[in-house]
Amino acid sequence: MKKVSLLIPVYNEEESLDSLHAALLPLIDNELPELPAEYEWEVILINDGSRDRSLEIIRRINAGDPRFRYVSLSRNFGKENAMLAGFDKAEGDCMVIMDADLQHPVATIPLMLREWEDGWEDVYGRRLSRGKESIFRRAFTKTYYSLLNKATRVEVLPDVGDFRLLDRKAIDAIRSMREQQRYTKGLYCWAGFRKKPVDFVTADRMAGATKMSAGRLINLALEGITSYTTAPLRIASVLGFLVSTASIAYMIYIICKTLIFGDPIQGFPTLICAILFLGGCQLLALGIIGEYIGKIYVESKHRPPYIIAEESK
Ligand code: UDP
Ligand code: MG
Repeated sequence: MKKVSLLIPVYNEEESLDSLHAALLPLIDNELPELPAEYEWEVILINDGSRDRSLEIIRRINAGDPRFRYVSLSRNFGKENAMLAGFDKAEGDCMVIMDADLQHPVATIPLMLREWEDGWEDVYGRRLSRGKESIFRRAFTKTYYSLLNKATRVEVLPDVGDFRLLDRKAIDAIRSMREQQRYTKGLYCWAGFRKKPVDFVTADRMAGATKMSAGRLINLALEGITSYTTAPLRIASVLGFLVSTASIAYMIYIICKTLIFGDPIQGFPTLICAILFLGGCQLLALGIIGEYIGKIYVESKHRPPYIIAEESK
């Protein structure tokens, strides 16, 4: 019998965990009629340093049903790194990644398994509606993906999140990428494999508030750009080239003008504009370079991407 792993990162989800457990039971008891076959199941809950009662609840679920395994990280490492811990622990022939807040419908998983049985290696969930979300976040997401896709050669799809099924080959590929600052969505695309979408409708969050604050999302967004493309460095060089060409032309103009008309003390506005503009360009370029150097610095320490504090047997 083939084995399917379910990977669920958990961060302060005490209100959702029991309903999640209940919602998963019909699936892992092989009772859903849409399932293409009977499977052996394992659920891997990654406790990402929750500060509420999540770990207690997870331990209780595990004690009652050993198909629910868990790994508890020593602190909050962020969803991307928590997922990597799950990638490392999964034993299944394929793995489905889903959120703990039941925004990813359990009923979609059998449909994903069907595609997998048909030979697709990366079956990704595609959101038909984005559930309750602020207009700001929606607009931000839209602009962001159009920018990211212009800057990179590998396409990252906007309405696709981490709800997906990966074949063993894809799991091993993602596992082999050990960077600390992870942008898993980009990694799926980079890794390749035969991809197939399955549509689903995002439910509203079961309980509690989103753990992805605006700050975290912006960080992740920057991560996506800098870990995925060096195009901004190119932009800085192109900008530098254009500005210096323009400056040389302007310089020639000024010299000629001075030679012909003499040099009355004038031109303070031009001067200050030029200084401020160039200063701005330099800071921008430095900032961009700094982003990349910061990344090199963090990666060069070769720290493990996560640390395990406790684990189920
Ligand atoms: N999560 C996590 N670590 C974090 C933040 C979130 O493991 O630092 C988990 C969280 O418990 C949930 C999933 O990642 O299972 C998605 O988080 P959330 O629902 O808050 O994000 P959203 O759906 O709003 O993007
Ligand atoms: Mg959510």
